Amino acid sequence: MTTPLVCHTCRESIAGYESVHYGSLETGYRDLCSRCFNEEVARLGGLKFEHVQFEPIEMRDAAGEPHRFHFCARLIGEHVALEGFELKDGAPGGYKFEILGDPEGDLFALMAQLIERMRRALTQRHLERGEGSARLQIAEFLVRGRIEWDENEDGRLPLLVIDGREVPWEEFGRMLMSYEGWQFKLEIKDPSAEV
Ligand SMILES: [Zn+2]
Repeated sequence: MTTPLVCHTCRESIAGYESVHYGSLETGYRDLCSRCFNEEVARLGGLKFEHVQFEPIEMRDAAGEPHRFHFCARLIGEHVALEGFELKDGAPGGYKFEILGDPEGDLFALMAQLIERMRRALTQRHLERGEGSARLQIAEFLVRGRIEWDENEDGRLPLLVIDGREVPWEEFGRMLMSYEGWQFKLEIKDPSAEV
């Protein structure tokens, strides 16, 4: 077992995904919870920012499967980034959403916007099981997803997350072979964009 992280400022224990390793080589680094991190960044930047710790919520996808989302707000530069993510083995994995807003704006309104976006995304289904087959295939000529690190590939090949499901690059290649000779368009977007 790894020792749980403790916030340097408020001494509360923090999950790894909630902590920020904050500082510089000169001043040294501290692990902060997102609240203490945001309060410190707001103070340094002279921002009127009020941290909100949103409780996890459960949402269902198009197939009726439940997904539990955790939320984290973080001040980054001129924005506040609000993230909604699932946990797989204690770390963010599966569906992941991010929205940027004004740090001095209404965080609850930003949360409502994020939830709307998550709802839209969860109604979409890009992969389906082939008839009489356990294998996944592309359902309707369009795939949206995320590019992640594949532990098994050591950075050589990506791991895709499509419909909140991990799809190794090779498996995705096999799915594409149903369209041999067809064309495609690949467009890469910022994590905070709606795709
Ligand atoms: Zn703290």
